[in-house]
Amino acid sequence: MCLTKLFSLQGQTLHISLLNETPIKSVIISSLKGPYQIIGDSTLLMTMDSNDAMYITIFEQRLLLRSSQNPLGNFATIKFVSHDTTGVIRISCVSPKIDSRQYNDNLTLSVAFERILMINDVQPDNYIAGVVDAEAGPNAGLEFYKAQSILVRTYLYGNLDRHITEGFQLCDGVHCQAYRGRAVRNPIIVQATKATSGYVVMASDSCYINAVFHANCGGETESGGNAWLNNKNYLVPVKDPFCVNSSSARWTKTISLVQWKNYLKSHGFKFTADCAPNNFEFSQITRKQYYKMERDSIPLRQIRSDFQLKSTFFSVVANAKEITLKGRGFGHGVGLCQDGAMYMAKIGYKSNDILKYYFKGIRIVNTGHLVSNK
Ligand SMILES: [Zn+2]
Ligand SMILES: [Zn+2]
Repeated sequence: MCLTKLFSLQGQTLHISLLNETPIKSVIISSLKGPYQIIGDSTLLMTMDSNDAMYITIFEQRLLLRSSQNPLGNFATIKFVSHDTTGVIRISCVSPKIDSRQYNDNLTLSVAFERILMINDVQPDNYIAGVVDAEAGPNAGLEFYKAQSILVRTYLYGNLDRHITEGFQLCDGVHCQAYRGRAVRNPIIVQATKATSGYVVMASDSCYINAVFHANCGGETESGGNAWLNNKNYLVPVKDPFCVNSSSARWTKTISLVQWKNYLKSHGFKFTADCAPNNFEFSQITRKQYYKMERDSIPLRQIRSDFQLKSTFFSVVANAKEITLKGRGFGHGVGLCQDGAMYMAKIGYKSNDILKYYFKGIRIVNTGHLVSNK
C-alpha cells in the first residue's frame, strides 16, 4: 500500500536541471517578461528588466557574471528571481551553441563537474505544460492534453527524488521526462494543465501508476510484463481501434534471407542449410512475446532492439531472397497510446475516459483535495 505517499505539490516549487546532458560553459540569460532580481551568493546585485541580458561564463569553478555594461563579479551561485509568478526567462547557450529556450519562473546557476548547472525553480503546472508540449507535440485537442497532463503529473509525483543526490529533482531529458522549456506552441496545453491541476492516477493499491505512454500501439497495447518483466494489473493489453488509421500505425522492413538466417543461428536456432523460406514466416494477429521456429525461440524485444525496429508487433513473410517484417505501431506499446488517445479526444471522449480505457482499474485523484481534507 502506498497511502502514506499522498501529498500535494500545489504552491511548491520544483527544481529541474536544464540541458542536463550538456557541458555548458557559457550562457546569456535575459528576461522576456517582468523584472528579475539577480542574486549572487545571497547578495542582491541588481534588477534585470525585460530585454536586458546577462553573460555568465565558468572560470576556475566560479561563475563570472557581467551585464551588457559592466563586470559584476564572480560567484558560486547566481539566482534569477522573478518579482511575481508570471516571469519568463530566456537561456541562450553560447558554449556549446544551442538554440535559445524560454522558461517560466526562476533560475539558479552553479558549477558542477566543470559545467554550469542550471536549475529551473518552477511551479509544477508550468513544468507539466512544458513536458506535455515536448512529449505530445502541438496539434492535439483539449481532452487529450488533459489526459497527458495527468500522466505527466503522475510521473512527477512518483519521481520527485530521482536526482536528489545531485541537488535537483528531475532532469529535462528522456531519462525523466523531456522538457524543453515552457509550452508556447499551443495555448490549449496550458489550459489543459490548469484544468487538471492536482490530479494524478493511482492504482487499486493506492500507489501512483507507472504513467507510461507511447506513440502508437498498432491496434493492441502491450502488457507491462511482456515489455519489461514488471507486471502491473493496470498495464494489461487493450484492443485499440482508435489509432489504426494513423500514419505511424504501419511499417515494413526488409532484411536479406541470408542475414536473417545468420542472425537466428547466432541465437542458437537449429535449421538445415536448405530450410525453405516459408519456415521463417511468422504471424502476429495479436501481440506475442517470442519469434518461434519449432523448438527455437527469441524474444521479440531482442529482435526489436537488434534491428532498431519501431515495435515488437510485426509479422514475417519470406521469399527466396529476403524476409519482410510487416509491423504495426511505434514504441513499446505499454500504457496510453498517444495516437489512439488523440483520436478518442477528437471524437468526443473525455480525459478520464481516455485514461480509463488504457489503464485498467485506476482512480483519478485530486491530490490538492486530499490534502486539504486532512
Ligand atoms: Zn533524469
Ligand atoms: Zn493504439
